[in-house]
Amino acid sequence: MEIDYQLKPKSQRRTEEFVPDKPLPFGVLRTDHMFIMDYKDGEWKNPRIVPYSSVEVAPGAIVLHYGQAIFEGAKAFQHEDGEIYTFRIDKNAKRMNRSAEILCIPKIDEEVQIEAVHALIDVDRLWFPKQEGASLYIRPFIFATQDSLGVHPSATYRFMIILSPSGPYYPQGFTKPIKLLITKRFHRAAPGGTGSAKAAGNYAASLRAGEFAKKFGASQVLYLDVNNQYIEEAGAMNHFHVTSDGTVVIPEFTDTILRSITSESVMDLSGRIGINVKQERVRIDEFVEGVKNGNIIEAGGFGTAAVISPVGEYVFEDGSSLVVGNNEVGEYTKRIYEYYTGIQTGKVEAPQGWLKKVEKRV
Ligand SMILES: *Cc1c(COP(=O)(O)O)cnc(C)c1O
Repeated sequence: MEIDYQLKPKSQRRTEEFVPDKPLPFGVLRTDHMFIMDYKDGEWKNPRIVPYSSVEVAPGAIVLHYGQAIFEGAKAFQHEDGEIYTFRIDKNAKRMNRSAEILCIPKIDEEVQIEAVHALIDVDRLWFPKQEGASLYIRPFIFATQDSLGVHPSATYRFMIILSPSGPYYPQGFTKPIKLLITKRFHRAAPGGTGSAKAAGNYAASLRAGEFAKKFGASQVLYLDVNNQYIEEAGAMNHFHVTSDGTVVIPEFTDTILRSITSESVMDLSGRIGINVKQERVRIDEFVEGVKNGNIIEAGGFGTAAVISPVGEYVFEDGSSLVVGNNEVGEYTKRIYEYYTGIQTGKVEAPQGWLKKVEKRV
């Protein structure tokens, strides 16, 4: 791919190492540049890296009215050798195309996506925060740009990548497990719908449930399937629990559950970590019973942002609550987190192909 570099003048970009004086928040900061590529006349073209700035879209752009947009979330890490490595970025590229198919968006060659991510990181590599537990969060996204009020797939699209230097999700470590609301009032996705795509609209549709959860002191809803029988996921992370025999159980992927790369990676690593991981449909009544009778000893969520979010309590609309693992962070959760972040940061040997070095190009 021939990328057009339209970089900021040196005087306007970061020229020194980035040493933050306090823990960086997640996803707030930006770097100097962004990647753009446009879809027009049946092909993706004009790949370029330009200064980070606002973009213009027509007021009638399809994305603004009908929400035809998808995104990805990945991370890169700086190792002790000073090099920056993306983590399983090929999985993100593949999933982007899966989402594209579901939203009727033209696919982008996976190698092109990966190259675009690496080229952008290369240009802004000095933005990697020198801070324990930090990462460069990578946000690729595609949105529909055609100016048309008719409901049909757009004829034109824009693919962009932005980067966010981020501190550790839990700056003080796992101090406090989170709380989830179990409710039949909201559902994230319906069979045959867009639940298995990383679609922007899925998140718009989850906001009301999230606000409702906060009224109960919970950070998010644990979604059930439309018949309120099975656990699905928590909206931005998959759900898991650990049984007393030490098995990590993740709800089976259906078309109403997003295939978390973190979940898949934990499954791939089970042998190395020395844990059992399985996927099956998880009945909510059996889950509640298991927590009550002590057969379920830990629970939490898997997702790129935090890797693992331990859950210590489930609340219900009637005000009752269910505590899991004494509301403390359990041994399995800690072990998975340590191993996983060890691989990402280069302290534990990674499986072949999981980490890709960002080569110097400019
Ligand atoms: C992104 C996302 C996750 C987590 O997936 P990872 O690949 O592990 O980051 C889980 N659920 C939903 C709905 C998501 O959009």
